[in-house]
Amino acid sequence: SRVRVMELEESPDVTFELVGGLSSEIEEVREAVEYPLTKPEVFERIGVEPPKGILLFGPPGTGKTLVAKAVAHNAKATFIRMSGSELVHKFIGEGAQMVRELFTLARDRAPSIVFIDEIDAIGTTRTNDGTSGSAEVQRTLMQLLAEMDGFDNRGDVRIMAATNRVDMLDAALLRPGRFDRVIQVPLPDEKARLEILKIHTRRMTLDESVNLNNFANETESFTGAQLQAICREAGMFAVRRDAWAVTGDDIHEAIIKVRRDEPRSDSRMY
Ligand code: ATP
Repeated sequence: SRVRVMELEESPDVTFELVGGLSSEIEEVREAVEYPLTKPEVFERIGVEPPKGILLFGPPGTGKTLVAKAVAHNAKATFIRMSGSELVHKFIGEGAQMVRELFTLARDRAPSIVFIDEIDAIGTTRTNDGTSGSAEVQRTLMQLLAEMDGFDNRGDVRIMAATNRVDMLDAALLRPGRFDRVIQVPLPDEKARLEILKIHTRRMTLDESVNLNNFANETESFTGAQLQAICREAGMFAVRRDAWAVTGDDIHEAIIKVRRDEPRSDSRMY
């Protein structure tokens, strides 16, 4: 059903405290998305137009959706998520209609933030697209561009998108008045990894010998999503041992497991 491709949340319960690292990226997103909703009079007074669309790009699992939800929470806005790839793969023949419905819904539920995940699925460079669905994908993209062109930067619908393939995006999407603010969401550095580990162990009983600093140091090139998986797996190891607390060994084993289960490929382009 359509519920799967469009996910709606009234003021999601994600706060900025649940996001590790990314403080400058968060500030940039707030300026572009939240403040136009919460203090439009400042933009009015200064005479500056907020950006029309904000594109977040970076590796999968680095917190793009999390940041978008936290901004919606702070702005007390409805969060409406649509997945570009689900749209293309599950709604063949209906993509353009779904995009129209997405924007109608966003206007009805304003103030709102539209978040289009994996936008590259509908907006990949035209030249190297040989799939059979490409005419349909084209129509979906055209509808998205038309919707974006048709609404006011100063309105109470803000539009965000995410991709991990910014290099592949159709240039039409990046033109002024479309996704005209691009914000990179990088892999977490050591300090950010420590924050993320703290966030995802905050409700867990850790043995007092556990020093999360060591694990932040050992997890170079892990994403936030993988760090979350490490915390969960470590907790499961402790549960299986029927232990009182999660030990450093549990975390160590969890790092090995997550590294083995989700090897990162260096050939990917971000
Ligand atoms: P994708 O491109 O795959 O959609 P994404 O960048 O949108 O990925 P999220 O969906 O936001 O990533 O991250 C998945 C989960 O990983 C989050 O729900 C959160 O639990 C955890 N996570 C990722 N990044 C962070 C972070 N910076 N701080 C805390 N948790 C994080």
